[in-house]
Parts: sequence; C-alpha cells; structure tokens
Amino acid sequence: MVNNKLWIGSHVSFNKSEQLVASVNEAISYGANTFMFYTGAPQNTVRAEIDDFKTIDAMKLMKENGIDISKVIVHAPYIINLANRKNLDFGISFLKQELERCDQLGIRFLVLHPGSHVGLGIEEGLSSIIDGLNEVLKSYHGNTKILLETMAGKGSEMGSNFLELKQIINGVTYSNRLGVCLDTCHLNDAGYDLSDFDQVLEEFNQMIGCDKIGCIHINDSKNERGSHKDRHENIGFGTIGFENLMKIIYHPTLENIPKILETPYINGNYPPYKQEIEMIRNQKFDKNLLEKIISFYS
Ligand code: FE
Ligand code: FE
Ligand code: ZN
Repeated sequence: MVNNKLWIGSHVSFNKSEQLVASVNEAISYGANTFMFYTGAPQNTVRAEIDDFKTIDAMKLMKENGIDISKVIVHAPYIINLANRKNLDFGISFLKQELERCDQLGIRFLVLHPGSHVGLGIEEGLSSIIDGLNEVLKSYHGNTKILLETMAGKGSEMGSNFLELKQIINGVTYSNRLGVCLDTCHLNDAGYDLSDFDQVLEEFNQMIGCDKIGCIHINDSKNERGSHKDRHENIGFGTIGFENLMKIIYHPTLENIPKILETPYINGNYPPYKQEIEMIRNQKFDKNLLEKIISFYS
C-alpha cells in the first residue's frame, strides 16, 4: 500500500461566537483532516470581528487532531461578482478584507467564483475580473492565494473552461498569488469528461499548469455532462460515479492537494460527510450509504 496522505474534509460552518473552534470541531466529528468554511453567510458580506483567542484555541485543537492549517480553505461569498464592472468597487473592497481575515486566521487559500458577466459579454467580463484582481492584489502583501473555481457555466458564469481561467491568470500582474480550485461537479456540468480524467488534467496542465491547483471540490453531479446546471450529488450517486471520483481523489499528481466535499445534506437535514469520508477512505462504494446516514442521525 502506498503511504500517501489523503487530505480530505468538507464544507463546515463558522459561527460568530465560537468562530474557527466550531468549524474545527465539526470537521473532527466527520473524521476529516482539512475543511472549508465561509467567514460568514455565503450570500451576504456581514462578517464578525475575528477573535484571536478563539483562533489560538482552534490552532491547538487542529494540531491535536491532525488537521493541517495549510490545507484549510476559505470560500469567498458568492455575491462578489468581479465580472460585473458596476459592482467592482464593492467586490474589490470586500475581497481585500477577506484576504486580511484569512491572514489573521492563518488560512492560505481563498476560493473565489470568477463571476458572471450578466449579459455584458465574455470580453467585458474577463477584463473586469482582471482589473478587479489586479486592484485587490497590488496592495496585498499577506500569504493567502486566491483560487479561481472552475464553474459549471450556469447563466453567464465565467470560468467554465480552462481557456477563460488562463486568460484571467495571464492578465493579472500578480498571478503568482492566483491559483485554481477544480470542482468535479462543475467540470462535468461544463462538459469535461471525467471518465477520462488523465486527459482533462493533461489539458489543464498544458493550458495553466498543474502546479496552480490549490484545492479540489469533490462532488458528484445530479445532471448529465455539459448540462451547465450545477447541482451537486452525494458521492457515487450521480452521473460522475464513484469509480471516476476515486481516480481523481487518489490521483498521484493531486496527492497533496486538499479535497473538499460540498455534497448535499440528506433530506435537507443530515450532513453526509462523516460517512462519505469513511467510504472514500475505504475505496469501496456503499449503495446503502444514504440510509445509513439517516439512521445515524435519527
Ligand atoms: Fe464554489
Ligand atoms: Fe465548489
Ligand atoms: Zn457548485
């Protein structure tokens, strides 16, 4: 057996009072060794002051439980839309603050949706994103990198193909502070064939370079390849399937990269992550997993 360490976790919550301590405890309850969180609600920009004492407690807890802070991810709220020049100033100022919050929390990666051009066109969207990122990064001297997420291409979403991501990265002066977060559901829905992942990775490597990958969102998809829908499914229960996801999770090129589950709660109530992580570690599909999750929590 190869002695490679799998960095796996899920999206977890972050609350105002317990902050990172609550996130770490939730990750531990899932048997995870990494996690991702929003510093507040994903749909708004109301953010609590970071409490350094809570952060110190959380660091201690992580250390005791084998969670490596350098693998932990923050996701920027999805109302930031750098592709729409009308809202650019707001996006820039919020992103600057978010990078500083990441530094204060010791987080090194901030995942960002590139944005939607809302009918203004791809060229205009790209130039707006590039200007926004340049503006954010030129005055930023911390340690956090922004990871542009690969998107499903829903509506006028940008970044659903590697070419657009490459154009953004090439246009940004401080591109050493940029990376990419691959999302398996989004790749599938954007049209990439994950049953031939080596080919997808090769294309990514040619265009952008595998060294730019900072995080991978592991999700199955409810929809067919190329559907541009973006609806996540539990691991092994969607159109990508367990075998294809396992090849991605255990791909040698992606060995040290944190893998984050963003799969749906069962019946809208029960987090699937503990059981999904177990199944991924076992490398064996369990067709009764969803029933097991329901009986575990009820
Ligand atoms: Fe995302
Ligand atoms: Fe994602
Ligand atoms: Zn998604």
